[in-house]
Amino acid sequence: MNTSNTFFGHPIGLRTLFLTEMWERMSYYGMRALLVLYMTGAVSGFNPGLGWSQVDAQAIYGIYVGMVYFMVVPGGWIADNILGHQKAVLIGAFIIALGHFTLAMPIEQSFFLGLTFVVLGTGLLKGNISTIVGELYKNLDEKRDSGYTIFYMSINIGSTLGFLVCAYLGEKIGWHWGFGAAGIGMAFGVIQFIKHRNLLGDAGMHPNEMSDKKRSRLSTYMYASLVGMFLVIGAGLMGLITVDPRFFAEKFAYFLTIVAGVYFVYLFLFAGLTASERKNLILLFLLFIGAAAFWAGFDQSAGSLNIFARDYTDLSVLGFVIPVGWLQFANPMFVVIFAPIFAGIWAYLARINLNPNLPIKFAIGLLFMALSFLVMIIAVDIALESSPVGMQWLVLTYLFQTWGELALSPIGLSAFSRYGPKRYMGQMFGLWFLASAIGGVMAGLLGGEALDGGLETISPVFSFMIQYYLVIAIVLIGLSFIIKGAKENAN
Ligand code: GLN
Repeated sequence: MNTSNTFFGHPIGLRTLFLTEMWERMSYYGMRALLVLYMTGAVSGFNPGLGWSQVDAQAIYGIYVGMVYFMVVPGGWIADNILGHQKAVLIGAFIIALGHFTLAMPIEQSFFLGLTFVVLGTGLLKGNISTIVGELYKNLDEKRDSGYTIFYMSINIGSTLGFLVCAYLGEKIGWHWGFGAAGIGMAFGVIQFIKHRNLLGDAGMHPNEMSDKKRSRLSTYMYASLVGMFLVIGAGLMGLITVDPRFFAEKFAYFLTIVAGVYFVYLFLFAGLTASERKNLILLFLLFIGAAAFWAGFDQSAGSLNIFARDYTDLSVLGFVIPVGWLQFANPMFVVIFAPIFAGIWAYLARINLNPNLPIKFAIGLLFMALSFLVMIIAVDIALESSPVGMQWLVLTYLFQTWGELALSPIGLSAFSRYGPKRYMGQMFGLWFLASAIGGVMAGLLGGEALDGGLETISPVFSFMIQYYLVIAIVLIGLSFIIKGAKENAN
């Protein structure tokens, strides 16, 4: 390999993917930080919001996050069979930018249309860009995991940038400026991708082999579903269909759970797996449950915790009131600080033969998540006495959540590609993100429940979540001794 043409010692194409993902996450997290604030903001005043109830707003937020990650599944299929991964990323990035610019229009009607574009675009981009990362390492297997670690950094640099710019503009100047900034960020990503796409070489260039006839039939299905979708959205925008957001979110959560369940059962029973592949699948199923539960807590950051920051936290620093969204900095900043430390700890434990296996790492992730909500319960207690509380509570909450994320998220991604049945590899990212989808929609439902009665209703919901985290963590720890496949480590 020509070393002058590398990116931190990795294939140079990683730089293209790094920057594209960075801008995409900048736009995703930046806009997401504004979403519930905008939906629940008062309809009059200097920066008028939509004035919706917490329950509705949180449910819509949950549906949005759930849809974003759910669409990774069809997005992967479209790239595998019709477009190829590179083209899917490019079109996806373009549609995301279009979505943010649609949101930037200061009219209420553009809201759901904009969200739909972002959902569709992210479906095309998020999983497929992760797939191309893997493809860069076809003959460099030992480097792949560290390639993904670098890639994970781009996510967090991007989100820091998003919180910084979009939250400031959106909250201090006007919501639509924040949405527009997200669009500009994504547009930078599109330009960058077009300019440096050649560095990817052949990675992600070609869809699966199939006859032209079959491909054109599949394309027809794809366009037909898109048209169908837009007809439904159009009817919704014209007021022909109205749906109660919480009702829809609940059904959507069931739907996603059934999809995941059916897929696991199909793989287990009908995919012709060998005995050891089946054993690994059980392991992945357990990790899947852990991950879905984890994201249901993690995604409270832009949901209920965002509202806690706005309504019950003192945001002044040296006389300047920081934007609510800035508190979410804590997560990506802590990722950048602690990722190398966690990697070092795992490597050290591996040297002394004590590296915890996958289910134990996931259990650690869930225990940190439980701890983070314990901190929030204390914060809520203090707020009930005298509100607002200091920022340190949310910062500490995010610190524990980040530690949990580092125990679970980076290794989860590689575990799914490593232990998934080989012939179904392409779909493993989709499956991993399906856990994020279930987590996201659950986050919206739980967040709405928590905020339904102001401060009083927060703690019961958070303690319910803590109990669940403890139960799942204990089950994972218990089963890790039983399942032999779990003895292997992901890194
Ligand atoms: N923070 C990571 C990202 O944005 C993981 C998010 C998720 O899977 N829910 O990619």
